[in-house]
Amino acid sequence: MSSYNLPDLRYDYGALEPHISGKIMELHHDKHHANYVKGANQALERLGEARDKEDFTRIGALEKALAFNLSGHVLHSLFWQNLKPKGGGRPEGELGSAIAQFFGSFEKMKRQMVESASTIMGSGWSALVWEPLAGRLLTTQIYDHQSNLSQAGVPLLVLDAWEHAYYLQYQTRKTDFFEAVWNVWNWEDVSDRFAAVRSLDVALAGAATA
Ligand code: MN
Repeated sequence: MSSYNLPDLRYDYGALEPHISGKIMELHHDKHHANYVKGANQALERLGEARDKEDFTRIGALEKALAFNLSGHVLHSLFWQNLKPKGGGRPEGELGSAIAQFFGSFEKMKRQMVESASTIMGSGWSALVWEPLAGRLLTTQIYDHQSNLSQAGVPLLVLDAWEHAYYLQYQTRKTDFFEAVWNVWNWEDVSDRFAAVRSLDVALAGAATA
């Protein structure tokens, strides 16, 4: 039976300092992310039990728990790979060109994403997303881990705006965290994801003008 696993970080907890403290990384990965992995596997197991017993009275709650925890697992796995020690700068090549095409400039995209993260009501994320229907880049606020993302969109770069992502280090200065993280973005990772996803064909001809 397949199940979800907590992937190891590709760098030490303290490797993103001073922008993200080692203590935050340790708790965020080992506790918060681990709980989403556990929750996703538990929801799958309970759905299996419901099928065995032919008792679907809790189907709505179980599927909601699966969506929340699995999305939390996906977004955190992506976030860790979007980060790297001594990262930052800006993307070149196709991703750099696409950002200029769809946002006007890298600075405008950055401003939009920082604003998007700063204005989330409650817990959530800001994401740079490839929208394959029209073939364009968007930013979007994602509420909790799963609400507000357009259905075909594929997140390429995600910024965790939950309090657990920054509070220990930045307290109420959350915008300082949303700015600091631009010093540790792994643009090679984002560019690789962009290259992989651009060939995605959702086969919905007539539904958009590219
Ligand atoms: Mn988080």
